Amino acid sequence: MQKRLLVLGGGESGRGVALLAIAQGYSVFVSDAGKLSEEAVSELSENDIDFEQNGHGAKVLEGIDVIVKSPGIPWEVPLVASAKTHGIRVIGEMEFCAPYRKGKVIGITGSNGKTTTTLLLGHLLKTAGINVAVGGNVGVSYARLLLEQPDADWFVLELSSYQLEDIDAFHVDIGMVLNLSPDHLDRYDNSFDAYAAAKYNLKKTQHSDGTWLQAGDELSQKHALHLQELALEKVHQIDMPAEYVSGVAVTPTKEYNLENTSLAGPHNAANASFALTAAELTGVKADVLAKALRSFENAPHRLERIGFVDGVEFVNDSKATNLDAVDKALRSFSQPIVWIVGGIDKGNDYASLLPLVQKNVKAVIALGLDNEKIEKAFSFYGERFKNTSSLKSAIEEACTIAQSGDVVLLSPACASFDLFKNYIDRGDQFRAAVMAIPNFRETLQHTS
Ligand code: ADP
Repeated sequence: MQKRLLVLGGGESGRGVALLAIAQGYSVFVSDAGKLSEEAVSELSENDIDFEQNGHGAKVLEGIDVIVKSPGIPWEVPLVASAKTHGIRVIGEMEFCAPYRKGKVIGITGSNGKTTTTLLLGHLLKTAGINVAVGGNVGVSYARLLLEQPDADWFVLELSSYQLEDIDAFHVDIGMVLNLSPDHLDRYDNSFDAYAAAKYNLKKTQHSDGTWLQAGDELSQKHALHLQELALEKVHQIDMPAEYVSGVAVTPTKEYNLENTSLAGPHNAANASFALTAAELTGVKADVLAKALRSFENAPHRLERIGFVDGVEFVNDSKATNLDAVDKALRSFSQPIVWIVGGIDKGNDYASLLPLVQKNVKAVIALGLDNEKIEKAFSFYGERFKNTSSLKSAIEEACTIAQSGDVVLLSPACASFDLFKNYIDRGDQFRAAVMAIPNFRETLQHTS
């Protein structure tokens, strides 16, 4: 008899699963507690997939054999809990996709740098002429990639901790946790160990012919050690360095020059080291990789260099929504920084950034509806601390303070929902406002 699948959530993840499930002969129903996008409604309708939105119907569990939950939905929501009491199997997107695996899979997770590393590795392999599918938690979902690029030899997947919480059959040939630092702890009862454990499920599920790239930072080492007790030593492990310097990426056999690439800062040297090591493992030659590095363009909102106004450079790092990302941004420039920070606080302890801020930041501009914590931490800047509640006034203050040779850096350390739709909207508005300043130039103009 045809199996009945309920998909919870009609975003990219849920729709990918729905389409893959149909192709595998399931009967599918999509249910979303919120409002679906126009794109979602038209895609589901075009594919004759039944759905409901703005809440789950009372009979939604009737006759259901399996539920696939989108990553953003916590396991504790009442519908999932009730499904479990009815004996209905509830799994995540990756686990649903596992039986339909094709080609070889590279999985990339970590607290920061996932998107950059995934896109970079995808670019390196593509440029080397490899048939590669790139997506997961960025762009196209894994389920959709399996449908759209079934002949790909390699699948390069960005994976969030949410996507890894329940994996068992899903496994990767090459895996990595790029780094660990506190984020999303609200989802894990404030337990850092639980958050780290979700990420390290990626290693736990590897088969004995798998390769693991082990990050050298202290927290990652600690969690890997914990796993070794589970006797995973059959997985081939490559140990990555603990420290990186700007401008050089290292793999076990080579060093790559990152100057004249879009990979600025020590954190991008780390991301590039992981991507290049994985690319070497797929068999691509170093000279091809060195050349491909130069044509890589990172996604926007990640230390995105917008341009100059009267010798002052403007950089959009709107995606920096935690302190670790900001820490890396503040280390990425040799010029004095006018730092725009703020939004919805996620429990930041700004004191941890103090030495770095005092060294590299010449002025702090708080941008948010509630700047109290930031003001408390940085009001000692006196005249060089400004409190603003609109992007316009934040940019005006920045322009007043910054002098030729400085960098104005939007690196908020906070979520964006107080003043913007999301981090993309925040970064887009920042870029547009900067480009509208009368003397804006994309590149530095030399006067001599
Ligand atoms: P993710 O997909 O994990 O959120 P991104 O590549 O989108 O990572 O980058 C998010 C933010 O983190 C950006 O501000 C970026 O500059 C910063 N970042 C990128 N790589 C790292 C890293 N390895 N360590 C710390 N911060 C990083």
